[in-house]
Amino acid sequence: MASSRRNDADGALAGRHGLDRRDFIRVCTMAAVAVGLPASVGVKWAEAAAKGLKPSVIWLHFQECTGCTESLLRTSHPALAQLILDLVSLDYCETLFAAAGYQAEDALKSAMAANAGKYICVVEGAIPTKDNGIYCKIGGKTAIDMLNEVAEKAGAIIAIGSCASFGGIPAADPNPTGATGAPMILAGKTVVTIPGCPANPYNFLGTALQFVTFGTLPALDEKGRPRFAYGRVIHEDCPRRPHFDAGRFVQQFGDQGHRDGWCLYKMGCKGPVTHANCSLQPFCEVPGAWPIGIGHPCVGCTEQAVAFRIPLHTTVEIENPTPPAGYPPIKAPQGGVSAAAAGLAGLVGGALVGGGWVAAKKVDGGGEKAGAKPDKGA
Ligand code: SF4
Repeated sequence: MASSRRNDADGALAGRHGLDRRDFIRVCTMAAVAVGLPASVGVKWAEAAAKGLKPSVIWLHFQECTGCTESLLRTSHPALAQLILDLVSLDYCETLFAAAGYQAEDALKSAMAANAGKYICVVEGAIPTKDNGIYCKIGGKTAIDMLNEVAEKAGAIIAIGSCASFGGIPAADPNPTGATGAPMILAGKTVVTIPGCPANPYNFLGTALQFVTFGTLPALDEKGRPRFAYGRVIHEDCPRRPHFDAGRFVQQFGDQGHRDGWCLYKMGCKGPVTHANCSLQPFCEVPGAWPIGIGHPCVGCTEQAVAFRIPLHTTVEIENPTPPAGYPPIKAPQGGVSAAAAGLAGLVGGALVGGGWVAAKKVDGGGEKAGAKPDKGA
């Protein structure tokens, strides 16, 4: 009897997708830990979702490639996308909706009315402002009007991806449509920004679930980014950091250093000035599935002043040269280093260390001047 009861509970907890209970709770606890909450909170989220207590989410799409949604859905771990959709009630989403036209517009109005003051408004994509915003219209409304209307009654506003956070690629020079981010349109309102090209789904999920569970938002930096995800630069927790500190740099793509997974600083890596947790929170739960993990320099996609502004191969100033307390094994094959393990070591150890200036000297010794100012004009 007890066993039967437990099986029923397990089935409910796993949701409608036939997922393994352990997987379901694991994703929830990962999201909880990602926002600095106890793992037990993740179990509570899973239980609440099983009871149907899911936050209403209205997801707006503007100027973008839909990459943030696609990265969430096209995972190599299909359960992730399903779980995210199982943990929230996606009441309006132009990309995923089967409804269209008036039916979709009615769904938006109904969701806003039924959940006024409580729903989460997610914005994906930049908002064009030039010529009164005519370059993005949905159902006869400009993106500016639609965003203002939906944000007005939202309980929380989350800008997912770099386009929604600060304009991203659509706002790159010469920015023909006057594209900008949601925080700029909604000046005066709190807009959580989760930049990234694409954004990491866990950063979104953790933020949304914290709001739903506690009615609070995570601590934010001055750009509206959750500190749990953007509090440190990639350089601090990079699996290639031991090579940086040892002065071992890739000189050109395909050389022996590149094959051996050496540091990409001289190839223009923007990790030293880019605040993000890419190395700590693997995309789609695939260790190594991020630019540096596959041998490409970080382009700084979470930073408004870096990505699509500073040329790809221009080196940047080292913002934080303090070496971490613990290193991942440097002989591990690329992509095989457990990013999660490296990240945890970085999180726990890196936050505690003080230390000396090692890095810049190593770079100097490598024959290229460290601390070169970004060539913004090139
Ligand atoms: Fe990693 Fe880039 Fe820093 Fe090298 S410069 S350690 S590749 S973040």
